[in-house]
Amino acid sequence: MKTIRIDRYGGPEMMRVWEIEIPQPKEGEVRIRMEAIGVNYIDIYHRTGLYALELPFTPGVEGAGEVDGVGPNVKEFSAGDRVAFTMHPGAYAEYAVVPAKKVIQIPHGISYMQAAAILLQGMTVHYLTHGTYYVKAHDKVLIHAAAGGVGRLLVQACKHFGAYVIATVSNEEKADIAMDAGANEVINYEKKDFLDEVKRITKNVGVSVVYDSVGKTTFERSLECLKPRGLLALFGQSSGPVPPFNVSLLARNSLFLTRPSLAHYTTTREELLERASEVFQWVQTGVLKIRMDQTFPLAQAAEAHIRLECRASTGKILLLP
Ligand code: NDP
Repeated sequence: MKTIRIDRYGGPEMMRVWEIEIPQPKEGEVRIRMEAIGVNYIDIYHRTGLYALELPFTPGVEGAGEVDGVGPNVKEFSAGDRVAFTMHPGAYAEYAVVPAKKVIQIPHGISYMQAAAILLQGMTVHYLTHGTYYVKAHDKVLIHAAAGGVGRLLVQACKHFGAYVIATVSNEEKADIAMDAGANEVINYEKKDFLDEVKRITKNVGVSVVYDSVGKTTFERSLECLKPRGLLALFGQSSGPVPPFNVSLLARNSLFLTRPSLAHYTTTREELLERASEVFQWVQTGVLKIRMDQTFPLAQAAEAHIRLECRASTGKILLLP
């Protein structure tokens, strides 16, 4: 089978196509013939070694396809099941072997492409709005990179739960996308200082929560956008890791800061299934509308990474095996 392998950390060119034997599922594992593979920002962190995986490895932590074999003691799945998984490396391949505890049945009416597009980003939005923070009607929320994969879904969810959404994006096309997703206000943070704009929009009160996936370039001003006892959910670092900072910055307004991760909001099988099931329902009922950015053949994984890294994408990128 064809798989993408990385044997040295580095740029997109480190991802090469290898021809290897189809792997056998062992005890508790499921083998999936992949139909669609999700591309996520974490794949870039894995590729560069920012989040180091043991070399060599097959990148990709999200995909959907048909079960074509199960190892001993797998009771929940059998050949022919339509399934998806996330948070397990090895997705950039024609077949992936995944622990059954990470595999989820795809409900009727959801396609492989939809499942591979929504599972990781949708569950992230779920825990950010129903876990890290519980979004309520009339909350003012600030969402950075609001035309991106997670950002755009987050705008839709916050809006659905009654929040007043202030979004940031880097250009006019992305501003239209964030508006279409339901944002009340959109700030082009390449042209205007988002802190000044948030102060103006909230009449110097600030927002209840900032969802910041950009990191290095936004972090300090994100803290200043919060109202007293507000929460900064720093859930990513697309512009680079946040350097060490002085905690007394939080004292200015009795602020809360968290650095959450999907893995810690899906710690049990029950929690994983519950979040996944609600996310699929959100898609089926139109709360979340998936926007496909672009699909690439598996062998062009490098191009997909370049598109995501250079801020060109709006919505979800998929690889097709
Ligand atoms: P996006 O589609 O959001 O792409 C990243 C976006 O970040 C860009 O489009 C760009 O939007 C913005 N950005 C700002 N500065 C930079 C920069 N210097 N380089 C690159 N991008 C920049 O990606 P995803 O939806 O896949 O992921 C978004 C973030 O969420 C990532 O940081 C990811 O790690 C994180 N994440 C965290 C999870 C968790 O559980 N903690 C789970 C899932 C994702 P613009 O041009 O508008 O500024």
